[in-house]
Amino acid sequence: MRLTILGCYSATPRSLTNPTSQLLEIRNHMFLIDCGEGTQVQLRKQKLKFSRIKHVFISHLHGDHFFGLPGLVSTFRLLGRESELHIYGPKGIKEAITLLLKLGDSWTNYPLLFHELNSKESELIFEDDKVSVRTIPLNHRVYTNGFLFEEKLAPRVLDVEAVAKYGIDKSEFRNIKNGKAGTAKSGESILNSDLTLDPPKPKSYAFCSDTAYKEDIVPLIKNVDLLYHESTFLETEEHLCAKTKHSTASAAARIAKMARVDKLVLGHYSTRYKSLELFKEEAQPIFSNVELAEDGKVFEI
Ligand SMILES: [Zn+2]
Repeated sequence: MRLTILGCYSATPRSLTNPTSQLLEIRNHMFLIDCGEGTQVQLRKQKLKFSRIKHVFISHLHGDHFFGLPGLVSTFRLLGRESELHIYGPKGIKEAITLLLKLGDSWTNYPLLFHELNSKESELIFEDDKVSVRTIPLNHRVYTNGFLFEEKLAPRVLDVEAVAKYGIDKSEFRNIKNGKAGTAKSGESILNSDLTLDPPKPKSYAFCSDTAYKEDIVPLIKNVDLLYHESTFLETEEHLCAKTKHSTASAAARIAKMARVDKLVLGHYSTRYKSLELFKEEAQPIFSNVELAEDGKVFEI
């Protein structure tokens, strides 16, 4: 799993910083998470093959999280896209995007499928044989979801040393990979568990932006490998959190600690701060394995 931060600042685009957008590469999928203004340019700068994006997840309908989406939808049309594009986001997103397409008489020539969300409970919104995606209901000024991306347990892996040791014929490999026993050269039946290795541990990623401190997300994100949690403010501006429904770096660290995540990544910084290091310094005493999101930064999960 690989996460590329395309933008990780709040509010307005600036010459060197971008509003929220991330690209998650997970088991052959390219999932776009939020799509602030400038996302297309960032995708090109990072040399990501963005025509492979088939699923876009939008947390909420504030401009710094989705104003890049109409442009991306339009670019896909100009590039001659034919494959489906699925957009998951709050109720209203279909009306917002289709109104722009209608006024410009620029309907897509590819299927554009909206999956509108309005549940206040966590729900499964995407699933195939390798991956699942669930919502993480957040507490913001408008209806907002984070998203939990989880790999499924892969099949057991053929143990090349074991099959060689027992002299098992190649024609049996497919059956063994599917869980069957194998037949040794001697005719003896060999247990599948003696011919295969445990698959890699499935990885998980939780995206939580934007939200006020919300302790009840902890059970949903328990033990994830990577948690991105917004930290718009430092404690010196904590008084702004209640009004704007955002979090501080220390609040994000408390959530990470309670959820026992492996790593915390901070982002969605207010543009008022000159140094991002202050966010890390505030979070680290509470949760030590913390890193700062930066536009263009890649996290291997
Ligand atoms: Zn917002």
